[in-house]
Amino acid sequence: MISIAKPYIGDEEKKLVMEVLDSGMLAQGPKVAALEEAFAALCNVKHAIATTSGTTALHAALLAHDIGPGDEVITSPFTFIASANSVLFTGARPVFVDIDPKTFNIDPAQIEDAITPKTKAILPIHLYGYVCDMDAIMDIAERHNLVVIEDACQAVGAKFNGKVAGSFGTGTFSLYATKNVMSGEGGMITTDDDEIAEKCRLIRSHGMKVRYYHDMLGYNYRMSDLHAAIGLAQMQRLEAFMAIRQNNAKYLNEHITSVVTPEVRPGYEHVWHQYTVRVDGGRDRDAAVKQLNAAGIGTGIFYPVPVHQQGYMREIVGDFHLPVAERLAKEVISLPIHPQVSQEDLEKIVTEVNKL
Ligand SMILES: *Cc1c(COP(=O)(O)O)cnc(C)c1O
Repeated sequence: MISIAKPYIGDEEKKLVMEVLDSGMLAQGPKVAALEEAFAALCNVKHAIATTSGTTALHAALLAHDIGPGDEVITSPFTFIASANSVLFTGARPVFVDIDPKTFNIDPAQIEDAITPKTKAILPIHLYGYVCDMDAIMDIAERHNLVVIEDACQAVGAKFNGKVAGSFGTGTFSLYATKNVMSGEGGMITTDDDEIAEKCRLIRSHGMKVRYYHDMLGYNYRMSDLHAAIGLAQMQRLEAFMAIRQNNAKYLNEHITSVVTPEVRPGYEHVWHQYTVRVDGGRDRDAAVKQLNAAGIGTGIFYPVPVHQQGYMREIVGDFHLPVAERLAKEVISLPIHPQVSQEDLEKIVTEVNKL
């Protein structure tokens, strides 16, 4: 089976983890600081703050922007549940706006209709490694005085008009085991704003700047140096791995003819966390998945149920339809694209997908 995801763990990862073990200091320390520095440099921002996960990065970033009860945050329903859950953690309410069927990302043209006096932030998600239309989103945010928090969990290193994901608003990343840069579990917040960065650091560590003096309510969202060691080794592979993903995607786009392949518009640099096709025209997606799996091609469905239709979420936000997200949830199949997919694998994927 050609797997849909396969974390790469090489000698450098093992060497850096052993350094931490040998040092005897396992909690947040010099490796976390080095990983933060590498992330800030990659995103071209002043500050990067490591956390335990993408979910806690999102939560801390929202709290740092004073988002809480009574506030509304506009976001996409076509994402991993953490994007919207982090809004709920603060006591605020997610407001879902439908997506663009070509990009899988929030449709900027529908954002303004969703703005109310309670709207405090826009939380765009750069799904599959493809940056949202940040010109349009930053323009709306500026005109309505809204905060922008980017869910860049799948988009480390992705670019729009030369600008890196996580550098438009306050950026949040996940270093979960299958993400493009991983540390097993982990997260990162990126910002140019000194005050937001300081607040994120306080929230990460029980509101504590001076030991055992607590300035505000905070959490324990600190990354360990063991995790950071893995992440640091991965950061050194980022450019090379990104290039392999991009080449793999190019090959699949050039050769797959049976289903709708993803497009990349001019000005965008896609980092292909997922390579996602659409089985359109009312065809049976689940039958297609079975056929591919039986032929040895691993697949993923990201995501089978849009967030606004998850049972508990519906109780909070009400019952309504977002037709594009709901249709695409029934059409998408992600195919193996990671750096350990070989040319032979790619040819097999094309052959089997074109039989659909
Ligand atoms: C992975 C992911 C998250 C959450 O990250 P964790 O590290 O798993 O908490 C949030 N949003 C998106 C879009 C993701 O893909």
